[in-house]
Amino acid sequence: MAAHEILTAASQPRKIVLGEERLPKSWYNIAADLPAMPPPPLHPGTLQPVGPDDLAPLFPMELIMQEVSGEREIAIPEPVRDIYRMWRPTPLYRARGLEKALGTTAKIYYKYEGVSPAGSHKPNTAVPQAFYNKEAGVKKLVTETGAGQWGSSLSFAGALFGIDVKVYMVKVSYNQKPYRRALMEAYGGKCVASPSLETNAGRHILAANPDSNGSLGIAISEAVEVAASNPDTKYALGSVLNHVLLHQTVIGIEAIEQMQQADAAPDIIVGCTGGGSNFAGLAFPFIGQQLRGGRKVRVIAAEPAACPSLTRGRYAYDFGDTSHMTPLVKMHTLGSTFMPPGFHAGGLRYHGMAPLVSHLKELGLIEAEAYTQNACFEAGVLFARTEGILPAPEANHAVRGAINAAIKAKEDGTSPVILFGLCGHGHFDMQAYMDYQAGKLEDRMYDQSALDASLEGLPKIAAE
Ligand SMILES: *Cc1c(COP(=O)(O)O)cnc(C)c1O
Repeated sequence: MAAHEILTAASQPRKIVLGEERLPKSWYNIAADLPAMPPPPLHPGTLQPVGPDDLAPLFPMELIMQEVSGEREIAIPEPVRDIYRMWRPTPLYRARGLEKALGTTAKIYYKYEGVSPAGSHKPNTAVPQAFYNKEAGVKKLVTETGAGQWGSSLSFAGALFGIDVKVYMVKVSYNQKPYRRALMEAYGGKCVASPSLETNAGRHILAANPDSNGSLGIAISEAVEVAASNPDTKYALGSVLNHVLLHQTVIGIEAIEQMQQADAAPDIIVGCTGGGSNFAGLAFPFIGQQLRGGRKVRVIAAEPAACPSLTRGRYAYDFGDTSHMTPLVKMHTLGSTFMPPGFHAGGLRYHGMAPLVSHLKELGLIEAEAYTQNACFEAGVLFARTEGILPAPEANHAVRGAINAAIKAKEDGTSPVILFGLCGHGHFDMQAYMDYQAGKLEDRMYDQSALDASLEGLPKIAAE
């Protein structure tokens, strides 16, 4: 057998690592297996479906073609596989310590993406995005980042391919997470607090509210504006778009093989959802098997109660950014002007959800649950004490979801196999853990009237 297992004292496999020759050769495109395609993105001016040419100022053509592809398998370029080999295939673990602590009848497995250089799943797409831009002769990439995971991942990928990277970082995180900023700079990226005075979008926000904490929607507006007005510069997005979800499917493709090796198949899959990419990356290959007549799996998206797009948002056409420069996409949204209250999972603060994930929710192929941050940190700390890995605050939502499912199994007397995505480690998020331990984390819910006002402002699309 090419792959190896690390055995515990009891000779029970705990960690399953595939040999590097098992690194996937293609990504999986769920569009090929869906009964219906999601509604198309619309041009913000004409309200007609956007064509490849509309997106050309922002993305290289290879990525645009992936965005609209109906092919089931898309080959991973060899230079990208060479870089993936630095940390892939990632390990899959049986959470025996956690199972024991819970006294559950469930079996719990997790796929760990924190072994990447940037500490999360984000390099899975940062690397191919930098590669395709390099191939297209692009000199500079601009992007936004919330907690800094995406900014550091793209800075890492840019360094490998010799592309300059500029990152607009949501101001509240820029101030709260100086180490993420330092990591971006170590990789050679340039990081600016958003809203900034560098763009029309930023100046406009600051004129209205000089103390603005920023949001992902604002930072996206700034980055898109810079890319649209500079010919040698393109834009990169770390989540939400079809091509990003596509690149993340290496997670689930590896997990399918690892679960087979563990002689188990998941009944329940849990992932946390900000824009939906790590969740989709793990779940879509399994859902694809189901759509092709294979085993049925229950799939749960775990989101923060303070920014609950899937559980409380409306499924409607909306802008991806605050200044309304992006195409309109149909998704579960809280409205592009929605400002979530402060909470620590910076990667889960986006107002919308990936159109593909939203579409699957509408088709009844996935479910969603929302959790408060104290409940998530409680789960994360239990996980650290039983499994040793300190999860990212975002990943704590998936841990919470898996634990809830395991507790439910015990109550019901069932013994499901649960697989969840541990999408990153929390080593740059220690302030959040300190606040949690000090009892300083507040479970602030979003303000219903602010949410109503934000939803009221959704663009009116006649065809809906
Ligand atoms: C960015 C990020 C997320 C949220 O993004 P998705 O596209 O929903 O995966 C979640 N967890 C971590 C660790 C992140 O860095």
